[in-house]
Amino acid sequence: QIEEWKKLRDLPTVSRDGVHVELAANIGTPNDVAGVLENGGEGVGLYRTEFLYMGRTELPSEDVQFQAYKTVLEKMEGKPVVVRTLDIGGDKELPYLDLPKEMNPFLGFRAVRLCLDRQDIFRTQLRALLRASVYGNLRIMFPMIATLDEFRQAKALLEEEKAKLVGEGTAVSDSIQLGIMVEIPSTAVLADQFAQEVDFFSIGTNDLIQYTMAADRMNERVSYLYQPYNPAILRLVKMVIDAAHKEGRWVGMCGEMAGDATAIPLLLGLGLDEFSMSATSILPARSQISKLSKAEMEKLAAEALQKRTAQEVVELVQAIKQ
Ligand code: PEP
Ligand code: MG
Repeated sequence: QIEEWKKLRDLPTVSRDGVHVELAANIGTPNDVAGVLENGGEGVGLYRTEFLYMGRTELPSEDVQFQAYKTVLEKMEGKPVVVRTLDIGGDKELPYLDLPKEMNPFLGFRAVRLCLDRQDIFRTQLRALLRASVYGNLRIMFPMIATLDEFRQAKALLEEEKAKLVGEGTAVSDSIQLGIMVEIPSTAVLADQFAQEVDFFSIGTNDLIQYTMAADRMNERVSYLYQPYNPAILRLVKMVIDAAHKEGRWVGMCGEMAGDATAIPLLLGLGLDEFSMSATSILPARSQISKLSKAEMEKLAAEALQKRTAQEVVELVQAIKQ
C-alpha cells in the first residue's frame, strides 16, 4: 500500500470518473512545508499563524512574520498557500496580551474579534502578509467570521494597509484571493450572501461542529455530541458548498473531517473542491478518491442528508465498496 501511495505523490487527485479535486495540507510553521511536498500536497490549505505568536514574550514583529510567510510561499513554489490570520483565544492563549479570563473562552474575545479591536496587532500581520505576497501564490483567510460586517471591516483594513504599502513603493501582489473560514453556524446559514463578497470559503469543522451541536470540543463528557456525521452538519456543509458554487467560488475544508476516510466519500459527493488535512493523510486520501466515482458519491451524499442519526450515516458509508 505504501508503494502505491508513493506513486501517487506527483499526480493530481482525480476521482474514478475523472473529476479533479485538490488535496492540501494544514501547517503550523515554515518547517512543516517539507512534509507537505514529500507527501504530494497540492497546496497549503491552512497555515495556522498562531504558532508565530506563541512561545515568546512579546508580539512577533512585522519582519519576523514577513520572513515566515515569505519562506512558506517560496518553498511552495507557486502552489496556493492559504494563510489564516491570527486565531488566538479560545483554547489558545497569549500570556503577554494580558486578556481578562472569560467564562466561555470559545464564545468570547478571540480570532477576528480580537483583531478588529486590537488593530495594531492585525495591521502588522496584514502588512507582513502583503509584503510577502509577491513571493508566491498567497491567499488570505479570516477566522471566526460571524457576520458580514466583520468580514467587511477586516477587508477594509487589508485594503488600507495595501494602499499604504503601494504608496510607499512596496510591491504587493494583485491576485491575492481573500476568503473566510466557515466555522460559525450563522455564517454557514448566510453563505449565499457571503459568497457574493468573498473569493473562497474554507469550512472549519472542528469549530463548526462544536458550535452547531453546542458541545465543547475539549470536553470529554459531551464528546458523544461531537458528531461530524450528524445530518445537521452535513446539511450545513451542503448549504455552504452550493451557495459558493452558485457564485462561482471554490470551497475547501480544513477541519479534521476533511482527512477522514469515512467523510471523504460524502464530501466528494457534496462537491467539496479542496480538502486540507495533515500532510500524512494526503496520499491515502488521493488513493481513496481515485477509486471513488463522484457521480456515485453524489447519490450517496443525497441519501446521507436524509438520514436521521450520525450512526445511520456512518453505516451508509461503510456499506459502499471501497
Ligand atoms: C476548525 O475550526 O475546523 C479549524 C480548522 O480551526 P482550528 O482547529 O484551528 O480552530
Ligand atoms: Mg477553528
